[in-house]
Amino acid sequence: MRVPVIAGNWKMYKTAGDSAAFVRAFLPLVAGVRGVEIVLAPPFPSIAPVAQLVKGTGVGVASQNVHFAAEGAYTGEISPFMAADAGATHCIVGHSERRQYFAESDEMAGKKVRAVLSVSLTPILCLGETLAEREAGKTFEVVERQLLAGLGAVSPAEGPRVIVAYEPVWAIGTGKTATAPQAQEVHAFLRLRIRRLWKDAAASVRILYGGSVKPENISSLMSQADIDGALVGGASLSPGSFADIVKFH
Ligand code: PEP
Repeated sequence: MRVPVIAGNWKMYKTAGDSAAFVRAFLPLVAGVRGVEIVLAPPFPSIAPVAQLVKGTGVGVASQNVHFAAEGAYTGEISPFMAADAGATHCIVGHSERRQYFAESDEMAGKKVRAVLSVSLTPILCLGETLAEREAGKTFEVVERQLLAGLGAVSPAEGPRVIVAYEPVWAIGTGKTATAPQAQEVHAFLRLRIRRLWKDAAASVRILYGGSVKPENISSLMSQADIDGALVGGASLSPGSFADIVKFH
């Protein structure tokens, strides 16, 4: 039985004050919700204040990125340990905006997944094809390459600690959602591929969908056999719409 995960990625939005105001408004809206893991991914300066405010509620806090090194001369970066020390429980790895605007490679995503696991954070490995790749019939080839590079150094025993997020790049921030069957087709493929890597452990791996998820489309996505939650960008910025997504059933 896979517990669904609904994660909100705030990207480069919200000051520490805005983040705290969100949490204060959001927590009462989801107070009675059971059977769903909720994760908030604020910008770096908001990790500590958000972690402080959600303490004891079961809500997780994700760093949106980390460097793979433990420490060093990497100006502008933070290490997985620093994210954990600030109160993070999860870390997004290989988001398409990191790949597109900051030249992050498949190899870097693999190193980051390893580094994140080594400090006991839960990695949320993002992968997905661009519109050009989908139209060229390369969706499965691309997501398989990203999956194997991201998870190649993870043992089957560690496998269930990893969360995978399928985020077709053409659906992120565009208002275009993959249809539930379109998403399910890729999720089923990913689970099959994870099964070849980790055998039975694949059944416990949560595979999230991301790409213009809203309160209106979450239920149909969640009705699919291999969709175990959502990574939500735009619609996670308002406490009301994010709470409605969390309460999808
Ligand atoms: C994301 O940032 O991971 C995302 C899926 O964004 P949006 O929901 O805005 O498409």
